[in-house]
Amino acid sequence: MGRRKKIVQECERLMDNPENIRNIAIAAHVDHGKTTLSDNLLAGAGMISDETAGEQLAMDTEEDEQERGITIDAANVSMTHKYEDTNHLINLIDTPGHVDFGGDVTRAMRAVDGALVVVDAVEGAMPQTETVLRQALREGVKPTLFINKVDRLISELQEGPEEMQERLLSVIHDVNELIRGMTEEMDDIDDWTVSVEDGTVGFGSALYKWGVSMPSMQRTGMDFGEIMELERADKRQELHDRTPLSDVVLDMVCEHFPNPVDAQPRRIPRIWRGDDESDLAESMRLVDEDGDVVLMVTDIAMDPHAGEVASGRVFSGTLEKGQELYVSGTAGKNRVQSVGVYMGGEREEVDHVPAGNIAAVTGLRDAIAGSTVSGVEMTPFESIEHISEPVITKS
Ligand code: GDP
Repeated sequence: MGRRKKIVQECERLMDNPENIRNIAIAAHVDHGKTTLSDNLLAGAGMISDETAGEQLAMDTEEDEQERGITIDAANVSMTHKYEDTNHLINLIDTPGHVDFGGDVTRAMRAVDGALVVVDAVEGAMPQTETVLRQALREGVKPTLFINKVDRLISELQEGPEEMQERLLSVIHDVNELIRGMTEEMDDIDDWTVSVEDGTVGFGSALYKWGVSMPSMQRTGMDFGEIMELERADKRQELHDRTPLSDVVLDMVCEHFPNPVDAQPRRIPRIWRGDDESDLAESMRLVDEDGDVVLMVTDIAMDPHAGEVASGRVFSGTLEKGQELYVSGTAGKNRVQSVGVYMGGEREEVDHVPAGNIAAVTGLRDAIAGSTVSGVEMTPFESIEHISEPVITKS
């Protein structure tokens, strides 16, 4: 059996166990390194070759995607990662970094439970960093922080340890100020500020594929001084081999982002105003794969062969081929022609996609991004509010 086929089978196996699923988005100000980082994760998970990562082939511009037959504007991919001896399924949604795509970013946030916010170490938090954080927090999506392009501080700007520490701490401080300001009034959210000590902050270089965090330094025995020495000496391959970025980030994802079972009870009341005492509400809170099907469509893409593919988050029940489903705002039902998941940017058909996962569905001809698709008639999800402009926060 081919390697890819094996990965698909492993993903299918893991889809049935919501505790081991993490639905995540990577969000950043444009050019801060989101695409390069996403490729690192795919390579680390064995989805694309290591050499390809960094050349931005898996999640690239729309034009390139079309040339290669992949047409996705918020690319979805599933990958597996072993953390503490348990294999996890990570469903990643890439979010466009341009302000114009604000709507897509917000929709992507509806499908996920965790957002890895990437900030360029040299530029620091920028207006779109604030926008994506606001979008995440509003959807009840938990943030962690990756400070990228640290290689530039070391090799290009020749910063010493103290100067660098000061700069990194100031990025963390700024991001935390934003998070604090946005979550102050949210009584369902505890302290979601990020910190180096608890492992919710990682640093590194997506371009040279190395990364560090407090837990990774404990695991590898490498301290920041040694990392700086290797980077300065241009020993980036050694850095990558000894402390690969993908391990650091994927470990952080598994450890710090909530799984759907933990996330949905908090998220459902935030995004759905239906009867909270109904069976459907209970089924969504419990991520019940045996409940009625509820899918929130977050994106529609054109597939050259299959036509329109709706992707989104399954909040309840199990999606299967042949199901007749209601689409909010339209009359009648649509018949599911196929269900699948995205692997390395390509859609793979599978038998079923249970609650807690991100699915790719064909046959939902009436669905648009934002539709609620369900086995029984129901109150649709709250519409997704677009936030495209940065809002000035109180200082
Ligand atoms: P996106 O717009 O956030 O997706 O950013 P990209 O991943 O496309 O990266 C923007 C530019 O920054 C590209 O030229 C990358 O090669 C470069 N870049 C990304 N990560 C790093 C990094 O860690 N170090 C350096 N020096 N450059 C990087």
